[in-house]
Amino acid sequence: MSRLHHVLAVDPVRQFVDTEGMTPYDSLVEATLAEGVMPCVVPQLRSITVGGAVAGIGIESSSFRYGLVHETVRELDVLLADSTVLTCTPDNEHRDLFFGFPNSYGTLGYALRVRADTVPVQPYVTLTHHPFTSGRSFFTALGRFCDAQVDFVEGVVFDRGSLYVTTASFVDTVPFESDYRFEHIYYRSIRERERDHLSIGDYLWRWDTDWFWCSRNLWADKPLVRRLLGRERLNSRFYQKVMRWNSRWGVARRLERLAGRYRESVIQDVVIPLQHAPEFLEFLVREIGIAPIWVCPVRHRNAQHRFPLFRLDPDKIYLNFGFWDVVHTRRMHVTGHFNRLVEEAVARHEGTKSLYSDSYYTRDAFWQQYDEQAYRALKARYDPESRFGDLYDKCVRAARARH
Ligand SMILES: Cc1cc2nc3c(=O)[nH]c(=O)nc-3n(C[C@H](O)[C@H](O)[C@H](O)COP(=O)(O)OP(=O)(O)OC[C@H]3O[C@@H](n4cnc5c(N)ncnc54)[C@H](O)[C@@H]3O)c2cc1C
Repeated sequence: MSRLHHVLAVDPVRQFVDTEGMTPYDSLVEATLAEGVMPCVVPQLRSITVGGAVAGIGIESSSFRYGLVHETVRELDVLLADSTVLTCTPDNEHRDLFFGFPNSYGTLGYALRVRADTVPVQPYVTLTHHPFTSGRSFFTALGRFCDAQVDFVEGVVFDRGSLYVTTASFVDTVPFESDYRFEHIYYRSIRERERDHLSIGDYLWRWDTDWFWCSRNLWADKPLVRRLLGRERLNSRFYQKVMRWNSRWGVARRLERLAGRYRESVIQDVVIPLQHAPEFLEFLVREIGIAPIWVCPVRHRNAQHRFPLFRLDPDKIYLNFGFWDVVHTRRMHVTGHFNRLVEEAVARHEGTKSLYSDSYYTRDAFWQQYDEQAYRALKARYDPESRFGDLYDKCVRAARARH
């Protein structure tokens, strides 16, 4: 699969791109921007592949208009376990697989080719950062901006009393152009300036340089460390390598134990209906305590399209809450204590959780969230011998076994 990383065709007139499943988004963006277009939704990390984003869940600040990555897909070539390759579209005989593929994480088949929608771009993006001092006013504004004449909407919660909505729009010319790829840090700029201007390329990768704010865990927010690392290492690919090395050798965990502390990684993206967002934020601040939190609105693009493994109500606006950090405690908790609290709160607030990270659901609770009946029917039709394994076993049991 790793060789399937080529962009096959960009058609700016019919507004689609055809690309192989393992194409990382930075290659895809480079090829599409050269033709004056971009994929409708570009996940924030350069290394995420198109196939991975469709088999999992991908979201960005254009999702209030275009939905999740999989809602921008027109056609998929899927490799089944018996080596058959099927072309799936929303209206051919394999539409069940087309709609069942998102959030199946490779347990139904592998995406070899993806045809996805593109939109025309302009060379620059002008950003406006709107400050708020309460969750209620912040969420009301996020909902309102989803109907505004802007191209991108997202939010960041720095703490209970410091919340920002950022709206952004395409423009042809700008008075100046900021650079957050080396000495300056994008997330800090949100609180420092009301207006900002970036090239479209820099806008799409604004979060990658510092992996949102997670680079600070490697001290990469310090000027000296930034200079030592240099521009070429300030990106999510480099940080992921370091984090993988750390989790393999358990370095941070051992150091914390020596200091008499316990740690649990809470790395989650969850979507919550807008109307429950204020209470969910209160829960996060009170019980989990991770900040900042990335908040991104998402709406179903096509009310007729239903994705059984990631069900959203087409009449609702949802907010993706992304929170990625370590919770430190003096007291020992059962494994996954804080992640379990998040899972319970997501269910309580009628939300859904992405499965890329650690999950602790019981089998019953898991299949209440994700449509078991539809999944079983897909498995029976497309992977009857279950050679690709089961979604629960892959996303929950495997994660538990790691700890
Ligand atoms: C550290 C981290 C940060 C993230 N940050 C963001 C973010 O900023 N924005 C965002 O939108 N999403 C984010 N995500 C979610 C991400 O989009 C999904 O997890 C996605 O599935 C990752 O794709 P990948 O190409 O990196 O695949 P991998 O992580 O390599 O694989 C993820 C899963 O998808 C399966 N898979 C991979 N390729 C295919 C394919 N071609 N066909 C079928 N199945 C396949 C794999 O078997 C695996 O189960 C993040 C995930 C992680 C782990």
